[in-house]
Amino acid sequence: MQRETLEFDVVFVGAGPANLSGALHLARLVKQYNETIDRNGEPLGDIEIAVIEKGAAVGAHILSGAVMDPRALKELIPDFVEQGAPLESPVKEDFFLYLTENRAIRSPITPPPLKNHGYYIVSLNRLTAWLGDKCEEAGVNIFPEFPGADLLYDENDAVMGVRTGDKGIDKEGKPKANFEPGVDLRAKVTVLGEGPRGSLTKQLVQRLGLDEGSEPQVYSIGVKELWELPDDRYPTGRVTHTLGFPSDSQTYGGGWIYGMQNRVLNIGYVTGLDYKDPLIDPHAEFQRYKTHPYIARLLEGGKMIRYGAKTIAAGGYFAMPRTYADGVLLVGDCAGFLNSQRLKGIHSAIKSGMLAAEVIFEALKKRDYSAQQLQRYERVVNESWIIPELKKVRNFHAGFKHGRWLGMINTGLQFVTGGRSWGLFDRDRAKPGHEEMKKLAEYGYRGDNLEQRYNGLRFDGKTTFNKVTDVYHAAVGHDEDQPAHLHVLDTNICSTRCAEEYGNPCQRFCPAAVYEMVDDGDGGKRRLQINFSNCVHCKTCDIMDPYQIINWVTPEGGGGPDYKGM
Ligand code: SF4
Repeated sequence: MQRETLEFDVVFVGAGPANLSGALHLARLVKQYNETIDRNGEPLGDIEIAVIEKGAAVGAHILSGAVMDPRALKELIPDFVEQGAPLESPVKEDFFLYLTENRAIRSPITPPPLKNHGYYIVSLNRLTAWLGDKCEEAGVNIFPEFPGADLLYDENDAVMGVRTGDKGIDKEGKPKANFEPGVDLRAKVTVLGEGPRGSLTKQLVQRLGLDEGSEPQVYSIGVKELWELPDDRYPTGRVTHTLGFPSDSQTYGGGWIYGMQNRVLNIGYVTGLDYKDPLIDPHAEFQRYKTHPYIARLLEGGKMIRYGAKTIAAGGYFAMPRTYADGVLLVGDCAGFLNSQRLKGIHSAIKSGMLAAEVIFEALKKRDYSAQQLQRYERVVNESWIIPELKKVRNFHAGFKHGRWLGMINTGLQFVTGGRSWGLFDRDRAKPGHEEMKKLAEYGYRGDNLEQRYNGLRFDGKTTFNKVTDVYHAAVGHDEDQPAHLHVLDTNICSTRCAEEYGNPCQRFCPAAVYEMVDDGDGGKRRLQINFSNCVHCKTCDIMDPYQIINWVTPEGGGGPDYKGM
């Protein structure tokens, strides 16, 4: 097969905040250098920078809470407010609530990590689209609908660029009339900014052993809706975080409610993807959250307008892989730079992209793209504010291994100890989240009633919605005539071992009803059906499948959710 090859200097994979900031910063550094170089110096000349994005447009697949600490954006674009950055509102007030089954108890003080004074409520979808425009103004080439399918390596395993996915393959794997082979984008440096559990990052980390000496990454999943409210009952700029209902005390979880412009309420719920109960369904946890009297009152008479779900890399300092190798750097959530205690990663993503740009700029001047040269990235990240911030909260997530209350005590103690933990709170080596999930019998479930955790939950179509209705509000689209992008390596396990041991938890942990066990008409046996066109690209299945036989790969370019305004 003949493939087109395009030559670039630097290719950024994924148009998220980290990569767009990196591309913009690099374009400016090169321009400044070329303009100011003295007569004896050698200008860098035209440096071709590309950003490829699997979504139909920049921002289409970007989902976050989000309250943004503007620290890094100020460094990138000091007058971002004057330049019209799409900010919903400065944070005007912070609430912290503990929810029991029926009551909402407001804490007289907001825990310091959840104080958001000086920060902004944003739609990360809009912010990244705006950053994309800034990149294009600076001469960066942006290619939407270009999913990174494979990394290109030389004979010494140095990364040489990325191959994009083929277009126009039918569901049997045969080329259609509109078939176009993927393109090889060759680059001196490739920057992976794919967000949590990036598919190329996963390949690279495994191939080069970049996670040697690190703890396994642990994740959470955030499920979110936007609501239009009929009146001003929840002011723009108010930020509420909640703990308690509906999570059980052994499951890490918490909710958020942010007031956006035009009476839009942004509400969501995070569930730790290291839960033990195999019947947990993060989408159902969120639906139950909305049945709490305090939340239900807030939503009464309102209309749900948007839905989305995304994972969060929560492992922090101890789970960071090596972030450089020959010809490649990792930025943002790919590198695990999110601060899970503050539930914030946009600022560190932007900063990491900028630092990557500075390191690449030096590499371009030296014409050296080796790991030895790019190792400088690790050093500058360590010397920046990213690592000190992560070190202070390095034991936060692990503290919840003994449940909510001890986790909170540990969180409090860390303010005094500067992040150290001892004794009961001393960390064991963390396990990957899927290993924490217990089998049905081990967890004490008897019989085949797999609804027992959510027996009382009804989807009324007013406050609570089933997954299919919610997915409709994520505006997901995939061409149905293509191979499924969820590769299940052995579907026999699904109908045998997994059904018996875990009750097919993929049907629950997927927030988009992609996995369904259906009757195969053969003596009452059930088989797995994959409704891949529902997929919102959250990556939960790749993370939580107990047998690790699900491999999420990029679908045909442009497919997936459209998170406009999310
Ligand atoms: Fe998320 Fe996987 Fe479901 Fe897609 S199939 S929505 S990646 S859990």
